[in-house]
Amino acid sequence: MNDKLSIIVPCYNEEKMIHLFYHEVKKHINELNISYEMIFVNDGSKDKTIDEVEKLHEIDKNVALISFSRNFGKESAMFAGLEYAKGEMVVIMDADLQHPPMLLKEMVRLINEEGYETVAAYRHGRRNSKGQKEPLLRTIYSKIFYRFINKMSDVTLKEGATDYRMMTRKVVDALKSLKEYNRFSKGLFEWVGFKTKYIPYQNVERVAGTSTWSFGNLFNYALEGITSFSVVPLRLASVLGLLCASISFIYMAYVIIFKMINPELGVEGWPTLVSITLFLGGIILISLGLLGEYIGRIYNEVKRRPIYIVENQLNSEIHGE
Ligand code: UDP
Ligand code: MG
Repeated sequence: MNDKLSIIVPCYNEEKMIHLFYHEVKKHINELNISYEMIFVNDGSKDKTIDEVEKLHEIDKNVALISFSRNFGKESAMFAGLEYAKGEMVVIMDADLQHPPMLLKEMVRLINEEGYETVAAYRHGRRNSKGQKEPLLRTIYSKIFYRFINKMSDVTLKEGATDYRMMTRKVVDALKSLKEYNRFSKGLFEWVGFKTKYIPYQNVERVAGTSTWSFGNLFNYALEGITSFSVVPLRLASVLGLLCASISFIYMAYVIIFKMINPELGVEGWPTLVSITLFLGGIILISLGLLGEYIGRIYNEVKRRPIYIVENQLNSEIHGE
């Protein structure tokens, strides 16, 4: 029986949520009768998030704080939490209570009694708590993303999958061994494998504060996902090149034959020439851009910079043992 649970909570400007989150989750942990540590990773917040966590640490020594020197992004925050966590089971949760703590009990049961190594929660239905549908554009966008990434890459992502998952020590150690700088955790979770159970939950609204994800963020996130797990786009450039070459060859043959049949007609190639040039120029630029995306990521990887920098830290009791 695993009975030590580490809860990792990435926090960026969550001053209003820390207290609420702690008490809500604590209620559910108490029912479980296990020891725990709650690791708040402060990802360079500009508000009083640190003070709130320090207050909690005063009253409960199971609370730990890892505070970054600046905003490194949620992926880095999750990784810092995984490196820090001492529990036999580790769960990652958003601070805004969008990941219902109600599921914790079932997650622990599935791991302890049914032998799963990972229990992953996925959003079921794209409605918020008021029953309103998510903006259509976002739904379409996410559908395209999942279709695209699952077709092209070596991992299969479950639609609606989130970072809310509980893992055993084995899985956490595997994740920690992947030291890549450009982290796309949703893919990494799948990539490491292990026996996984998916459990659904209804989408809920953030309790307080504001979401930091904009459409631009989402676009970058999707690009990260695709480039981290697939080199198919690179191959696409060669395929397009081949296609263009074949088309132009056919067209060339057509021009020669046309000239042979009607030698008295002049050349009428101006518009054709312009459109072909533009078309080829476009394809070349797109391919170059694609190459650039990959090279940029290689560049970031070879620099071997740390994934995050800690400014200060408060340890939990479990950590010191
Ligand atoms: N977060 C973070 N660093 C960031 C952005 C967000 O640690 O740069 C945390 C945030 O505090 C929250 C979680 O990641 O706990 C999810 O963020 P958010 O609720 O803004 O995303 P959404 O739920 O809209 O996808
Ligand atoms: Mg949220």
